[in-house]
Amino acid sequence: MKQEVIELDGAIGGGQVLRSALSLSMVTGRAFHIKQIRAKRSRPGLLRQHLTAVMAAAEVCGALVEGAELGSMQLSFKPGPIRGGEYQFAIGTAGSCTLVLQTLLPALLQAPQASRVRISGGTHNPLAPPADFLSNSWLPLLRRMGADVELQLLRHGFVPAGGGEIEATVQPSQLQPLNLCERGVLLSQRASALTAGLAPTVAARELDRVARRLSMPAQNLNHVCLDAGRGPGNVLLLEYAFEHITEVFSAFGQVSLRAETVADAAINQAADWLRSGTAVAEHLADQLLLPMVLAGGGSFTTPRMTEHLQSNIAVIERFMPVSIECREEGADRLRVEVRSSCSA
Ligand code: ATP
Repeated sequence: MKQEVIELDGAIGGGQVLRSALSLSMVTGRAFHIKQIRAKRSRPGLLRQHLTAVMAAAEVCGALVEGAELGSMQLSFKPGPIRGGEYQFAIGTAGSCTLVLQTLLPALLQAPQASRVRISGGTHNPLAPPADFLSNSWLPLLRRMGADVELQLLRHGFVPAGGGEIEATVQPSQLQPLNLCERGVLLSQRASALTAGLAPTVAARELDRVARRLSMPAQNLNHVCLDAGRGPGNVLLLEYAFEHITEVFSAFGQVSLRAETVADAAINQAADWLRSGTAVAEHLADQLLLPMVLAGGGSFTTPRMTEHLQSNIAVIERFMPVSIECREEGADRLRVEVRSSCSA
């Protein structure tokens, strides 16, 4: 019998539409065709990070692929059976390693064998989850859902130099539903300013701003000075550990951006989430959705609907019989509930 191909319009979002489709295609065995990939971005089509995700996904499940070229705005992907094992992928630029890993992880959890995956490229990129976000926020929640995954940051990689590397070991695991509607009590908070090849005053000014605006005591402020050869690079990470969740907020240094402005960008994200009283901040929200769907259920509260959350819901609903209900519970509080339609 001829298999139905799911038709997707990539213009509803960015690279995440493609990456979620790859993950879902691998785990459901359903083929898809996507047009208008990243059509509304300034450099549309497949960039190196997206192309690496496509090639990596194809390798993990022996997929038949058409359109996997740099700049391509269309792709056909017909998956085969998922295989665990030893994998190594190089993005070749400073494109985000963590986004490539997130694409593969749902499939590797369902593989018949354990896997070890190394990915090289950027580990700390603007507009992507920093490796610390995966290690300290996203993965602990996946582990709570039953995923047996370890992640090691082997080398930092910043834009534009890249050259970073992560390694993940994944044991086959069945995900269980998770409900995350409250944070619980605050256990600890800290700020880390990472710099590579930059003057130490950059970190000092960022941390000073954090101390003033967030009233963080000096012992919670940390300057991590990396090997200059890894640079130039700078990221400020703010980490809040609550009873039920740890959130990591980040902002990146750039030439011509004042250190205080960088700090404010991270502080404002944290302050917005702290004020909202919700459990999950904006970025974690769209990254938790797919694991919850694969677990067959879950719920969380988050400040608001975002483009990423919206487009992710749209892609998921094309692949899986699932109900995702989003209900506003007041200003800056949205409750998202995932239920498998089979069990509804
Ligand atoms: P483009 O938007 O150019 O297509 P892309 O392929 O890099 O870019 P997006 O579709 O924008 O990707 O998805 C980026 C993902 O990274 C989203 O899941 C988003 O929540 C996440 N993300 C972005 N910034 C952060 C951050 N500071 N911390 C954690 N996650 C982040």
